[in-house]
Amino acid sequence: MLDSYAVIGNPISHSQSPLIHTTFSHQTDQAMQYEAILAQQNGFPAAVTAFRQQGGKGMNVTIPFKLEAYQLSTRLTERARLAQAVNTFRFDGNQILGDNTDGAGLVRDIESNLDVPIATKRVLLLGAGGAARGAILPLLEQKPSVLAIANRTIHKAHTLHQQFISYGHIVSGDFMDFSGEHFDIIINATSSSLHDALPELSPSNFTHQSLAYDMMYSNKPTRFLEFAKQQGVNHLADGIGMLVEQAAESFFLWRGIRPKTKDVIAMLQSKVST
Ligand code: NDP
Repeated sequence: MLDSYAVIGNPISHSQSPLIHTTFSHQTDQAMQYEAILAQQNGFPAAVTAFRQQGGKGMNVTIPFKLEAYQLSTRLTERARLAQAVNTFRFDGNQILGDNTDGAGLVRDIESNLDVPIATKRVLLLGAGGAARGAILPLLEQKPSVLAIANRTIHKAHTLHQQFISYGHIVSGDFMDFSGEHFDIIINATSSSLHDALPELSPSNFTHQSLAYDMMYSNKPTRFLEFAKQQGVNHLADGIGMLVEQAAESFFLWRGIRPKTKDVIAMLQSKVST
């Protein structure tokens, strides 16, 4: 009998998680299976319960259910509690452990895959939605010299600033508040790229040495990455590495084994670009 895992969301057919986790399980020789589950908009708790009753061991949770997953969890990791969003369940008897591996995946991609240490760097985080919230604690744990949180709706940036103020050096504002300031790492955690739009950024935020990172990925460079390139930035990255690294972090929570990610990232990069 194979241990059973799944990703749940709506829509779900586009999800790369089954491919990623199946590849991880073969690589690490784990007796497990992984499927994709489409939940109706108002059917998330029922779908999770049904999967548990069938013996499911854990789940990944994606759009639009990360907040509901947070509420459904009976125990939370510190990073999930602060993110107020859950992307990973582990079912431990009667307990539902909720974790958030997105931010750890982002940090691992930046530091291990892209070889950019975050410590002492000036980091600009664009956005104040779920993805940004999940990234703040893992970023601050690496001790950047400053983490600037910039959002179109400024009060959301200020709220996050207050929430995380005791974890590191944070400043917050709207995009133009940071006009004229240089950053070493600029992370687009807005959903603007989904709509082929660009946050109203100051070109002066970028230097030739900056890393420009878009959490989104697609088969062509996003508007954000194009804009960064126009400012002379050479180090550009999209969110494929983060996607694979957050999956590896979930896999570790479930199986206690950390899969190798390099080849899986390369496989997905070639798949997305074709
Ligand atoms: P949310 O809907 O929670 O947040 C959206 C954010 O984007 C808000 O801060 C919003 O600002 C901002 N925004 C939207 N449109 C614009 C625009 N045109 N200009 C400026 N700001 C804008 O989304 P998520 O946080 O869940 O997702 C954000 C991105 O991260 C998505 O592209 C998603 O695909 C990606 N992601 C990637 C992952 C990966 O593994 N690679 C994992 C998770 C997310 P406002 O508050 O003003 O509305």
